[in-house]
Amino acid sequence: MLSFDSAVRPGTPLLHLSIASAPQWPPITWRNIHKEVRWFSLAVLVLTPLVALYGSTTTVMRRETLTFCLFYYFFNMTGITAGYHRLWSHRSYTASLPLQYLLACAGSGAVQGSIRFWARLHRAHHRYTDTSMDPYSAHLGFWHSHFGWMLLKPRVRPGRVEAGDLQNNGVITWQHRWYFWLAAFWGLIAPVAFCGLGWGDWWGGWYYAGFARLVAVHHSTFAVNSVAHWLGSTPYSDKHTPRDHLITAFLTLGEGYHNFHHQFPSDYRNAVRWYQYDPTKWFISLCACFRLASNLQRFRESEIQKCRLMMEIKKLKRTQDDIEEKWGWGTDPQHLEIWSWDQFKEASMKRPLMVISGFVHDVSSFVYEHPGGEAYLRAYTAKDATSAFHGGSYDHSDAAVNVSALPESNRSRADRETLL
Ligand SMILES: [Zn+2]
Ligand SMILES: [Zn+2]
Repeated sequence: MLSFDSAVRPGTPLLHLSIASAPQWPPITWRNIHKEVRWFSLAVLVLTPLVALYGSTTTVMRRETLTFCLFYYFFNMTGITAGYHRLWSHRSYTASLPLQYLLACAGSGAVQGSIRFWARLHRAHHRYTDTSMDPYSAHLGFWHSHFGWMLLKPRVRPGRVEAGDLQNNGVITWQHRWYFWLAAFWGLIAPVAFCGLGWGDWWGGWYYAGFARLVAVHHSTFAVNSVAHWLGSTPYSDKHTPRDHLITAFLTLGEGYHNFHHQFPSDYRNAVRWYQYDPTKWFISLCACFRLASNLQRFRESEIQKCRLMMEIKKLKRTQDDIEEKWGWGTDPQHLEIWSWDQFKEASMKRPLMVISGFVHDVSSFVYEHPGGEAYLRAYTAKDATSAFHGGSYDHSDAAVNVSALPESNRSRADRETLL
């Protein structure tokens, strides 16, 4: 049953408007849960690790099979990261036809749905990040974004996205049409046959290259939606949950620099520094060397640097606010009383005052502690000591300048009291 929220206030931003009016379904309860479970996904995600676990207790892992499992894991993951994700979801480069077919087959072996299905949802994830129209919103919890979203039908329909290119591409259409057979062949038949025909390890191929490798590929990919939205830093933007972390990059063939990726999704790189781990970027660059890939997109360096700078400034501002809250920076000049020079001279008769940079300071509590000696301080009472303070007599440190601005209540050495 569909329901529409009609209580949308005028002036609501367009994105919020589309979220508020998105088709929604009633909450899941024990009464309706059997209709809301995606039984096929549940079976695949529960049975594959169980079969792999059973195999690990009954079948010896051979060295050749282990080597093949690693190779095949990278093969499938590249199909997802370089193909499904960076090529078809984000169009961050152009791939030649042979490379497209290779990536489509490699991605089919990862058994995560067709390119059309995967890329459409991924575009919705970028467009509606962290909202209810994000199909794997991190705001609904770590496990929801990891694989919970595949096990239960969504309560809000995932957001609409531009997907005309996914309809018109011949390789995508071919893979979508034959997806079930391609997934069965590249996901199970090919790895089992390779181990069986190659070195006679049919059962090892079945349990390890087939099922255990598939479990690893699944959870590595799922980590992009869960771990990469939970662990790490936000060097480019803290508006949403995506984060950068080396561990996630290792788990996902370089997709772990997710904060960068959400800011610059059309960039074929996820890691922009030479030392960061992004084998998917290296693979695409290598393909470009052999003319299999072209038109590699890089976002303007100036904009990348601006985002970094904005985040640095934000962090510094937070530090400034913390210091301000804890110790204060001194009285705001706007709140100080304005004195004439005569008023200053008259007040100086009763207590030791001096002027530094247009501010009157009461130095009575500091006179015996002055590192330069009491005599120097007394020599400038009732006078403008600005030039002496800033180098005429002694070029004071920045720390001394800050101390001179502290409020009286904060055990100040010299108190800024009045603006002249
Ligand atoms: Zn994301
Ligand atoms: Zn993406």
